[in-house]
Amino acid sequence: MKLVMMGVQGCGKGTQAELISKKFKILHISTGDLLRDEVASKSELGKEAEGFMNKGLLVPDKVLLGMLKGRLSELDGFILDGYPRNREQAEALSGITELDGAIEIGVSDREAIKRISGRRSCKCGAVYHVFYNPPGRPNICDRCGKPLFQRDDDQEDAVAKRVALYHEKTEPVLKFYEEKGILHKIDGEQAIEEVFGAIEKALPEE
Ligand code: AMP
Repeated sequence: MKLVMMGVQGCGKGTQAELISKKFKILHISTGDLLRDEVASKSELGKEAEGFMNKGLLVPDKVLLGMLKGRLSELDGFILDGYPRNREQAEALSGITELDGAIEIGVSDREAIKRISGRRSCKCGAVYHVFYNPPGRPNICDRCGKPLFQRDDDQEDAVAKRVALYHEKTEPVLKFYEEKGILHKIDGEQAIEEVFGAIEKALPEE
């Protein structure tokens, strides 16, 4: 099964993509995580992407496409999270592979901003929330014991910019998938398990 996850930052895309990946045994590919790995390893691609990311801006399309093309064409199942973020990316993706479904997790901007500003991350990839999903010990990762941090692009200024960018650039992609008849709209303002239950119901049986 080949799927993409859509929804404003903070809607729970990453959490749900992880659950889908386990249940359907398909690879979870987060373009944000891939880019953060490139930045951490100080690769050429990472150096190119870093400035855009810290400001809450989109990294140029050609950088993303180069990073994804080889990976996606080899897989027969994946859940893509963070891509496509604009119409050009959606069209480029159509040129690489055919999708079985696009899942949109809907939450209000207010809820999205509340969730992102409480988000705390760990270098190992684990993600927490100060109220909704706190670690056992304050600010320490349950998985690896390292200190948690707040991503630069999760700070208030960058968050507002990213949410505005979602409405301007990413929302038109929903229409693109609706026209193809593969868009599933899910209410994201419910408990994590309920959102997942709704996704399972919406997806085609394998
Ligand atoms: P995320 O973790 O998905 O919120 O992504 C973090 C940052 O990575 C974004 O704010 C962008 O700067 C960059 N990024 C991730 N995916 C894409 C994409 N599909 N197109 C452009 N930039 C992206």
